[in-house]
Amino acid sequence: MKKKRSHIPQKNKVKAELQKEINSSCPFCDNTDVGHFQIHHVDEDPSNNSIDNLLLLCPTCHSKITKEDISKQTVINTKRNINNRASKIEFISVSVDSDNCGWIPYDNVPFSFEAKYLKSLFPIFNFSFINQSLKTVLLTRIALSVKKLPIGLAGPHIPLPSILRPIIKYKIKMPLDGETINTELNDEIEIPQGRAFKFQVELYDETMERFKPPFSKYAIYFEFGFNNDMSYKIPMILLNSNKYYEELTYNWIS
Ligand SMILES: [Zn+2]
Repeated sequence: MKKKRSHIPQKNKVKAELQKEINSSCPFCDNTDVGHFQIHHVDEDPSNNSIDNLLLLCPTCHSKITKEDISKQTVINTKRNINNRASKIEFISVSVDSDNCGWIPYDNVPFSFEAKYLKSLFPIFNFSFINQSLKTVLLTRIALSVKKLPIGLAGPHIPLPSILRPIIKYKIKMPLDGETINTELNDEIEIPQGRAFKFQVELYDETMERFKPPFSKYAIYFEFGFNNDMSYKIPMILLNSNKYYEELTYNWIS
């Protein structure tokens, strides 16, 4: 039985979007004659016109799919890879701005920093991401939570890493132990597709008493929120500690 083919609404707009996601070249061969490309229904249901089910490709490869010279699974995987690329924000690095705060990284321990100089005790982080998606995105939110770690021995320290030049700096208040602070950003960063973006976050607290930077140890957790409900949790950052302490795991007794 032949399945019912329904008209694709806003076909030109859909086609433009599909063309963008394949970078104007057939996902199966190197054909770039986009004007003659056709729309294939990935699940082979011609009434399912959701953009997630549509793939733009050259007529030759389209007929190869029909003849099963290109397998259905290959088509599904290809579309999935394109979708993953379409929503991808890539985390590159976090470092500390040692020129402007008293923190330096631990030797060979990623995401770990220690208070070293008493000039400014609140850490300033440099974050670096790349917008690998196919759209301009906005960084709109930073969520931060912290966990106080038991005090132990301090580790060694090393020369500074290369410092990124920030484009914007956010000041974020240190949450209390176990608390999460969500900050909606007034200065959203607009990031065009394919572009790297860098920004700084400076932590602060009204009471140095509570923060006690040179002595206290913290595990801190950043989550960055983008428009379109995308969010990105970066790996845990350790302050004044080069390892996480397992005994911090909370066990609830029922
Ligand atoms: Zn092709």
